This record gives sequence, structure tokens and C-alpha cells, in this order.
Amino acid sequence: MEYEQFFEEYIHSLQFEGRYRVFADLERINGDAPHALRHHSDGVDKVVVWCSNDYLGMSHHPEVVQAMVDAARKYGVGSGGTRNISGTMHSHVLLEQELASLHRKEKALVFTSGYSANETTIATIAQNIPGCVILSDEQNHASIIQGIRLGRTEKCIFKHNDVRDLQEQLARVGRDTPKLIVLTSVYSMDGDVVRLSEICDLAKQYNALTYLDEVHAVGLYSSDGAGIAASLGMYDKVDIIQANFAKAYGVIGGYIAASEKCIDFIRSAASGFIFTTSLPPGVAEAARKSVQILRKDPEPREQLWDRVAYLKNKLATTSLPYKHSESHIVPIIVGDAILCKSVTDILLDDYKIYVQPINYPTVKRGQERLRLTVTPKHTHEMIDDLVVALEKTWERLELKRAA
Ligand code: PLP
Repeated sequence: MEYEQFFEEYIHSLQFEGRYRVFADLERINGDAPHALRHHSDGVDKVVVWCSNDYLGMSHHPEVVQAMVDAARKYGVGSGGTRNISGTMHSHVLLEQELASLHRKEKALVFTSGYSANETTIATIAQNIPGCVILSDEQNHASIIQGIRLGRTEKCIFKHNDVRDLQEQLARVGRDTPKLIVLTSVYSMDGDVVRLSEICDLAKQYNALTYLDEVHAVGLYSSDGAGIAASLGMYDKVDIIQANFAKAYGVIGGYIAASEKCIDFIRSAASGFIFTTSLPPGVAEAARKSVQILRKDPEPREQLWDRVAYLKNKLATTSLPYKHSESHIVPIIVGDAILCKSVTDILLDDYKIYVQPINYPTVKRGQERLRLTVTPKHTHEMIDDLVVALEKTWERLELKRAA
């Protein structure tokens, strides 16, 4: 085996398809969002970032930053172990209490990322409940897919948000077979929202456990940022809520919230929880501060919705092919990997606008897109400039317009 040749050929095939990933080398300076300094071979530029998941700018919130600094000074920067071996710090316990209260669940459990929360929890349920079948929406995140793979049990992938298809699959599996329905509250690439009420009714009818990834919803939806289930008053209809601190909360880490027995089971059985060092206390304190702020202060959310509405209204005056999402996520479809990269290169080089192209396997081939995210820090003028730049780029590359 020529290993180096294998690596090279793999990369060549990505380059040929136009979906080779080029990372933007950024410095996001505290207090200067949504600007960032971009380092490149010819120097440094100031750019406006239009694709951050720091949806509310909480990563720069003075109180959140201070919470991390204070905790680092007080406790140091590492937790010192796994949760079982001296790595359960009081900061983790307080954070889990805050999360359980946020989601009105008995308990919560913190992981080092949202990815690991999904992969670990789903795999652990699938591996341990005898004969468990996993029913998963076809647009669930890679971390859910990976959890299902690791679970090595029967899986049924139902059509995206398609209640009838789910019902047919549930009927086939039968009421007496143990099963887990895995959903996402805001699907991150199209920005559409789960049909939670109908699906939870089905779950009850067929005696299924329900699992909801609220990664793109916490901090943003419901009056205290508890997410989509909370905004619908469906706290007790979803068995396991999963989310993270890396998007609207602006920090890092993931969690689940559920019944005391369920959390105790995952805590005791999950390899991906047991055998890894816990979050640094500074991260746990910053995450808790961010959750607390967004439980009480509606202002960042109100500002976000103002900017989202402004962007969508502005796009509506053009023929740019954006998707009409119900959420804060605004996708614009290009439909080709090479063209998508050309669009983002032009935006970056000529307009100092940074949006990352989204390609297969994140979306299906032919669905390549820009995924725009605005934040409270983007001004209306910046949005105007963005739309002008998009229009000019569409014209220059003669790209497809909305039907
Ligand atoms: N779930 C969804 C829907 C996501 O989009 C992501 C990350 O992009 C994750 C889970 C993983 O979360 P994290 O970035 O905290 O690992």
C-alpha cells in the first residue's frame, strides 16, 4: 500500500469535485463582532462574518467572558479527570442543575460537545435496550448518524419531517418493540422546524421514546431560550432533550436533559461519557452564565429577530434563490459545488464578506448553498451591503435565480 499516494488521491478527488475544504484563518476580536481579521498569503483583511453559529454574540458577552476568566483564576484551566475520577467539579453540578430547570426535567448531564452528547447517548440506548429500533429523520446531524452506526441495531430512516412515512414505519415495527424516535428541532441546513406535536402524538400511540436535538434552538426559541419543545409548551412530551453551548450560548460543550432514571442510566453505561475528561470549570461557568443571561434577558433575541426579518425582507425584493425558512437560518441555493466555491471566493476577495460554502455530504449533491446567519451585531447597513454583493456576484457568474 502506498499510503501517501492514497492520501493524495483522496484529496485530489475532493478538489476535482470542487468540495475541498479551505479554512478561513480568522481572528475574531472580542468586542468587534461581526468583524474578524482574516490572515491570508498576501496579508490580513478585515471581513464581515456571515456564517457564525455564535448566533447571539454571547461568546463576546462581557459577563460570560468574565465568568470564564474568574473560574480559570479560581480553579485553573483543567478539570483534572473524568467525571468518575476527581473530574466532577462543583461547576458541573451547578450547570446540570441550571439545565434541568431550564428544560423542566429531573436531571441533566453535560458532555464535552454536542457531537459527543448525540453520538454517546443514542449509541448507549441502542446498545443496551434489547431489540431497540431507532427511527431517525433523514436530515439528522452527522453525530446522530454516527450514534446510530455505533448502536448496531435496526434503524429506520424516515423522510424528512414526514409524519405519514414515520407512522408507516412505526406501524411496521409495531407497538411492542422498544424504539427511539430521533428528531431535530431546527434543521440546520434548511432552517425548517420539526412537526413536534404530531410526531409526539405518534410516539405516544406506538410507545416510543422521543429524542430531540435542540442544538440550533436553545438560547433562541421560547421566552427563556429553552428551545422549540418549550416554545410549544411540550416539556413533558419529549423524553430526552439534547443541545449544546457552542451555538447561541457562545461557548462549547453539550448536554442531555431527561428523567432522573434515564440520566442515571446514561451516566452509568455510556463509554463516551465515562472514559473522557470532563469540561474545564471555566467552560462550565461561562456556559452557565450564558444560559442564565438568556433565560432572563430577551433583548439579544429581539435584536436577532429584527435582523433576521430585515434580511429576509431585503432578499424578498430580489430574485436570489433563498429558502423561505421559519427560523433564523437563511439558506441561498447555488446547486453546484464549484460555483458555490466561486461565489464565496468572490464575496471574500472583492467584498470582504465571509460565508463558507456548504457542500456534500453536509447537504445532498445539487443542493450546495450559502447558509447565512445574522446576529444582533450585524447592522441594517451591513445587510444592505451583503444583498448588493450577492446580487452582483449572481449577475457576474450568471447563476440560477428563484423561479
Ligand atoms: N447537532 C446539530 C444539529 C449540529 O448542527 C451540531 C453541530 O454543528 C451538533 C449537533 C454538534 O454540536 P457540537 O458542535 O457542540 O459538537
